[in-house]
Parts: sequence; C-alpha cells; structure tokens
Amino acid sequence: MAPLTLGISSCLLGEQVRWNGGHKRDRFLTDTLGRFVRYRPVCPEVECGFGVPREPLRLEGDAQAPRLVTSRTRQDHTERMLRWARRRVRELETEDLCGFIFKTKSPSSGMERVRVYNATGVAAPKGVGIFARVFMEHFPLIPVEDDGRLHDPVLRDNFIERVFVMQRWRDALRGKRSRGELIRFHTGHKLLILSHSPQHYRIMGKLVAQAQAMPISALYDEYQRLLMEALRLKATPAKHGNVLQHIMGYFKKQLFPDAKGELLEIIGHYRQGHVPLIVPITLINHYVRLYDQPYLTGQYYLHPHPLELRLRNHV
Ligand code: SF4
Repeated sequence: MAPLTLGISSCLLGEQVRWNGGHKRDRFLTDTLGRFVRYRPVCPEVECGFGVPREPLRLEGDAQAPRLVTSRTRQDHTERMLRWARRRVRELETEDLCGFIFKTKSPSSGMERVRVYNATGVAAPKGVGIFARVFMEHFPLIPVEDDGRLHDPVLRDNFIERVFVMQRWRDALRGKRSRGELIRFHTGHKLLILSHSPQHYRIMGKLVAQAQAMPISALYDEYQRLLMEALRLKATPAKHGNVLQHIMGYFKKQLFPDAKGELLEIIGHYRQGHVPLIVPITLINHYVRLYDQPYLTGQYYLHPHPLELRLRNHV
C-alpha cells in the first residue's frame, strides 16, 4: 500500500513560518501521528511570497467572500492569495492526499470559525481561510480537520479513521476497477460504516448488490461519495453498542452463557461511559482469533488504525 500522505499547515510541524517567525508545533501530530503518515506541508502566506516576519493578515467584509487584508497598512492581498491557492491545489492533485490538517483560526489556513472583521472593526468567528476554502472546494471528499478540533478525542478518532479508509480506497482505485473489487472493499468496511450510519449501511449495501446495473465509473463515484458522507457522521456509543451486539451474534454457537453474559456486561459498561471502546473491542478480537471467524477477521472496524495511536482509549 502507498504511504498515507496528509497535507498540513507547515507551522504545525514546527516550521518557523508564522508572521512573527514562530511556529505552532503540535506534538501529537509530529511525534505520534507522524510515525504513521507522510506530511506534505503547505504555508500559504510564505509560499505566496509574504516572507517571515511579515505584517499579520486578517479577513474583512462579507464572511462568505471575505478580503485578505494586512491589519495595519490595509493592503488587500485577496486576489494574489486566490491566484496562488488555485494553482497550488492543482499541484496537490498529484500528491494523493488522504486528508489535510489546517491551522485553526488562520485567515489563510483556518477551515472554520475564522474571525472576519466588519467595517467598524468588530470581529465575528464566521469565516474560512482563503486557502482552506479553495482547498475544500477543490477536494470536497478529502477529510479535513484543524489542530484545535483534533484535541477532541471523538473528532480525532473520526478524522484518523477516515484518512486510513481514504488510504485503502485510494489503493483500491489504483488497482483494476471491477464490481468484484468493490464488493471486496465494501465487505471489509461494512461494520465500520454501520458504526457511523445504519442508513448508509443499507443504501450502500443495495448499491453494491445492484452493481451490475450501473457503469463502473459511476458506481465507484457514487460509492466514494456515500462512503465519505457516512464516515463524517459521528459514531456514538449507542451506534457502537449496536455494532458490538451485532458482532456477538457471530459467536452465538461458540460462547458459553457466562462468557456471553460477561461480554454483554462489558458492552453495557461501554454504553454507560464506564470503560473505553477498546475494552469490548479487545475481548471481541480475542474471540475472533480463538474461534477463527473469517468474516470478522476481515472487518476494519476491529482494527481501523494503529493501536499505538490509542484513539479508542477514551471514555
Ligand atoms: S497558519 Fe497557515 S499561513 Fe499561517 S503560518 Fe501556519 S501554515 Fe503559514
């Protein structure tokens, strides 16, 4: 499989590219996630030629189409940044990005809630950074997050799960496209999809079952759209609880009543927030190995990303 490549705002890697010559290194991104991914850093303001140090920029005017203006000397750099951003996203097409991590609140790189100043100098957190907007419009299906939101363990788990799915999907796209290959991909991701959206699980199941009825490229496009739409929805403890009980059904002949009772009890503790998801998952993985359950062995739901990231260890 090709390495998992993520775009990232350069300052998050510790590069000294901020307006004041500083950086915003994020230790989780560099030291922990960085062991599993290859980063492609992008600093819009430096790459656009503003230099370091530089006068800070800010967004002004209409929050839907703000201007990028230097905060003291009032120079408008919107068109310059837009021209550069449109060229840069075309270059990034060749990078096979599986996701992008933006720097929060930046007028160039922020993906949401960036301050936009009105004519009287009052700011409202309603904007999107100029480069981030161009990127998201150009790559609507690529998972994106910002460093601030990634401090939330649920959002972090969700984002990293999506970028690993994207890596496998890109790998599938590099091979020969066929209905059989799509079914193989879908089979491995069924329970993962179910944990995010039972509705998408049904719709995508039907799509794959009726695969003969569609041209192959339209089938792949529709599948990818639904896949990313499903995974953006939060996998709640209630949805995980349902998936875990669904998995229990595969062991109904092997597990003795006391083992079944123990697993049910642990799933109940997880639903109530007393233990993290990794606890029932570890016990289930033990039974999968013990009873050699081939369907479950192939389910990415049971190992969606490297254990070392400890993304399922929170309550
Ligand atoms: S927030 Fe974006 S533009 Fe600002 S220093 Fe970081 S990468 Fe560069």
